Amino acid sequence: MEQVRPTVAEYFGCNVFNDVVMRERLPKSVYKAVQRTKQLGIALEPDVADVVANAMKDWAVERGATHFTHWFQPMTGVTAEKHDAFISPAPHGKVILEFSGKELVKGEPDASSFPSGGLRATFEARGYTAWDPTSDAFIKDDSLYIPTAFCSYTGEVLDKKTPLLRSMVAVSEQALRILRLFGNTTATRVMTTVGPEQEYFLVDKKYYDQREDLIITGRTLFGAKPPKGQELEDHYFGNIKQRVSDFMKDLDKELWKLGIYAKTKHNEVAPSQHELAPVFTTSNIAADHNQLTMELMKKTALKHGLVCLLHEKPFAGINGSGKHNNWSISSNDGQNLLDPGATPQDNMQFLTFLCAIIKGVHEYAPLLRLSAASAGNDHRLGANEAPPAVVSMFIGSELEEVIEALESGKKYVSSTAEFDIGVDALPNFKKDTTDRNRTSPFAFTGNKFEFRMLGSADSISCTNVILNTIVAEELCEFADELEKADDFNKALKALLVRTIKEHKQIIFNGNGYAAEWLDEAKRRGLPNLVSTVDAVPEYTRPQYVAMFEKFKVYTKVEIESRTEILLENYAKVINIEALTMLDMARKQIIPTGLKVGKDACDAALAKKELGIDNAFEVGYASRVSALTAGISEAVGVLDEKVIAAQGIENAEAQAKFCRSDVFVAMQNLRGLVDELETIVSSKDWPMPSYTDLLFTV
Ligand code: ADP
Ligand code: MG
Repeated sequence: MEQVRPTVAEYFGCNVFNDVVMRERLPKSVYKAVQRTKQLGIALEPDVADVVANAMKDWAVERGATHFTHWFQPMTGVTAEKHDAFISPAPHGKVILEFSGKELVKGEPDASSFPSGGLRATFEARGYTAWDPTSDAFIKDDSLYIPTAFCSYTGEVLDKKTPLLRSMVAVSEQALRILRLFGNTTATRVMTTVGPEQEYFLVDKKYYDQREDLIITGRTLFGAKPPKGQELEDHYFGNIKQRVSDFMKDLDKELWKLGIYAKTKHNEVAPSQHELAPVFTTSNIAADHNQLTMELMKKTALKHGLVCLLHEKPFAGINGSGKHNNWSISSNDGQNLLDPGATPQDNMQFLTFLCAIIKGVHEYAPLLRLSAASAGNDHRLGANEAPPAVVSMFIGSELEEVIEALESGKKYVSSTAEFDIGVDALPNFKKDTTDRNRTSPFAFTGNKFEFRMLGSADSISCTNVILNTIVAEELCEFADELEKADDFNKALKALLVRTIKEHKQIIFNGNGYAAEWLDEAKRRGLPNLVSTVDAVPEYTRPQYVAMFEKFKVYTKVEIESRTEILLENYAKVINIEALTMLDMARKQIIPTGLKVGKDACDAALAKKELGIDNAFEVGYASRVSALTAGISEAVGVLDEKVIAAQGIENAEAQAKFCRSDVFVAMQNLRGLVDELETIVSSKDWPMPSYTDLLFTV
């Protein structure tokens, strides 16, 4: 008999302790208390928490779970977990399964080994995790996962979730003030929403295992260009190979079981590169789900004999991977506030939010830039495959005309009619699909913005904390001014016109990859923070610190510690990459050069003995020998630079030296090794080539 397979609708979210399950399993009053906690952040009474915990445990145990874990997002950028079994000893050598409200609400992992950027000395290493009821608990690998925030005992934030939640509160409060000014009395909460598109590479595990660089650093530190790269552009949206398709199906299923709305999948531009996009959800959940997605991509790939590379630039000369952060703001009465709308009233409200975003991006561009700064992403930004390191905004030509009309007080003329802004409803200029600019770091796409600078491995949290906070700040300034006005409409127009005049330099609808744009951006006074070490120190500018403190998103100390962590992390990554290169060069590449050189010398000698012309063999031997000697010298230089970098105490100075000296020495070594690879037989080369890695899955 043919078996009927469960449908997606049947198993979607089956491993999530979601609203449906809670309604089913919790007494009504407890369910209501949880809803209040979710929406208003009011802590649960201990006895109520006990009931919730018990229901969670029963549900999880029925599904085979044996453990629970608080799941959190420390500053490492990946998630952390520590598992405890539900078991408690019972008489006669038996156990009972227990999970208390206390265990649900608070955990106490030893925080000493997580990065804190000098926030804590090791002797006061205690930290705690606190349940985030806005993100549903779930089961994975027989454990009940409880999403949590992570703080030190003295209250400093040690994670990426807490500031995100705080920034969401900030933007909600300020956006509501604006909505009230427009006469909205129904909305009680405003949410930011995010849909992150995730790019990745798949390589065959058998080749991956033969490359120390991939294993240790996630990217190839050596590798000559393959004869074919991505120039034919035959991979983008191409048909998906069976093995990859099997992986994708498996991945979708795993994600759906966890309630993650994995929606779109396709091949990307580079060979072996793919993308997955979910349906958008609130920022906090999107951040949690993106972490889970990255983790499950890696685990699921292994089941198919593949390795998923999330590094931003696994292969030189081939497009790297990014993550597009699609972002919008909506109210709980069902409006997308970045949708231009259909009435003059909606149009003006939309233009108000748009102007707040324009002003925010202009004033805080360095913050957005640094939210995408990492050693890995430095290979992409500004490298003609990803947006430049200069932050600008694309709003499309129609919207730009609307803004210009508003600024000049003239009528807006579209192809169909003339419109008086603020009086007439504008034409529907939503989602103009012909007018899509892929080169802009921050593009309006009809009813949302797409921030395109993030690297594939990044957590989306930092970007969204910054987006939310800068928009909260601008909305707050707007509300302060407008609430005082006697004539709202007049005051609003004056405010928008002034904002456009002062901040329109941030709008750029042209080609962001063109070299001329960098000159133009300079003329406009837009910062070009080329690398991580240029961008990250901007974090601590007094005006930025003041903004974060105003909205209680970060304290000054927390920003300083984050700055320190980012710079330290940069230096650590470069150090690890450099050491890996040295190891590979010494143990694999130089010995190969010596052997190949010796073989060539042997061939030359044999020919000489026979009296045959051996000019080719001699030439080849000399070339191999010269390159090998060059490599050995470059190894020496890199070695010195690494030691010098390690001796620098100050985090910023160390990171800067890594960029200016260590990184340059690495590139020099790589150039020589890649040249040697192109003339050595593949049989002799000690590791799989780019062709093996990119074209065999
Ligand atoms: P693209 O043309 O870039 O593929 P899509 O419409 O497919 O554009 O959207 C890409 C991503 O944007 C998806 O993850 C989608 O869910 C997300 N998205 C759509 N609307 C919103 C919104 N209002 N807020 C946040 N993200 C959104
Ligand atoms: Mg997109």
